[in-house]
Amino acid sequence: MFKALLLTKTPEGATLADMASLDEAQLPKGEVLVDVAYSTVNYKDALAITGSSLVVRKFPMVPGIDLAGTVAESLDARFKPGDAVLLNGWGVGEGHWGGLAQKARVKADWLVPIPKGLDARQAMAIGTAGYTAMLCVMALQDRGVTPAAGPVLVTGANGGVGSIAIALLARLGFEVHASTGRMGEAGHLRQLGATELIERATLSAPGKLLQKERWAAAVDSVGSHTLANVCASLKYGGTVAACGLAQGMDLPTSVAPFILRGITLAGVDSVYAPMARRLLAWERLARELPADVLETNTETIPLNAVAALAPRLLAGQVRGRVRVDLA
Ligand code: NDP
Repeated sequence: MFKALLLTKTPEGATLADMASLDEAQLPKGEVLVDVAYSTVNYKDALAITGSSLVVRKFPMVPGIDLAGTVAESLDARFKPGDAVLLNGWGVGEGHWGGLAQKARVKADWLVPIPKGLDARQAMAIGTAGYTAMLCVMALQDRGVTPAAGPVLVTGANGGVGSIAIALLARLGFEVHASTGRMGEAGHLRQLGATELIERATLSAPGKLLQKERWAAAVDSVGSHTLANVCASLKYGGTVAACGLAQGMDLPTSVAPFILRGITLAGVDSVYAPMARRLLAWERLARELPADVLETNTETIPLNAVAALAPRLLAGQVRGRVRVDLA
């Protein structure tokens, strides 16, 4: 038997999140059984746990879109008992039981060996949010953005994606500007590497379709009017990597910044990113993110505290990353 967070649906349609004791035999099919050491709470997990959005595709469901731990059993030659592995995305925690449990049975194709330089605890201080931040940085670099082009804006700065994006960009030599609704966290954002802080209200209201050119590039985890204002404020030829919807799913912009300033909107998806790109992203994270940044940016909680934390995360009250210790 092992402990898990289990989501069920009431006849009225409400989502319940309860601690459960499960049997290995109840786990879904998969070639590899993993003893999960750590998982995390991402924005999508909070949506799933609170039932605020249609994230979970079948019930009962063990949530948790990422996990790190040790292989316990494997029917696949690529993995053997004792191997350190991590997993993020592929619909785990949405359509296949996920990481917020002491055990998970998953497809071998979904697993990433934990890269040299990281352990399971550090890997989940990064988690899906941090890995997505790296995919955003890679999207900017793929399009030729360099520190010489000018400052880079990060929106949703205190969030999981935003905080790791700041740390990564600053260490690559970029001048990082951070947009936040929590100026009280200015010290933390500066410690991560931001040199200029922007009150998020100046970006979240409807704005002009073309504005003063301010940033060479941006990482946006917020969407909606914020992303529209970012597009309108990019320098000529600028690029924004868009991955999130913390403000909203809408994008009330126009073609003006695209056809008059030649900007690029680069979409970033972490869930089905191809394996080669994942491996590269995780290797770079292991090399480029200092361990002290991971610790100061991460809160660690036990499994039985996850359900209470989820609404706080959606309300934008959680700083940085939340790691879940499954011991
Ligand atoms: P967090 O909740 O950790 O961070 C979101 C941050 O956005 C908050 O901390 C807050 O930062 C800011 N924010 C919250 N509400 C609003 C609002 N109404 N208007 C403007 N800003 C707001 O989430 P994550 O960092 O984990 O994820 C961020 C987004 O990225 C989510 O929408 C998530 O679904 C998405 N995502 C997408 C992925 C993909 O594959 N495309 C993968 C991972 C995440 P502050 O207080 O500093 O203003």
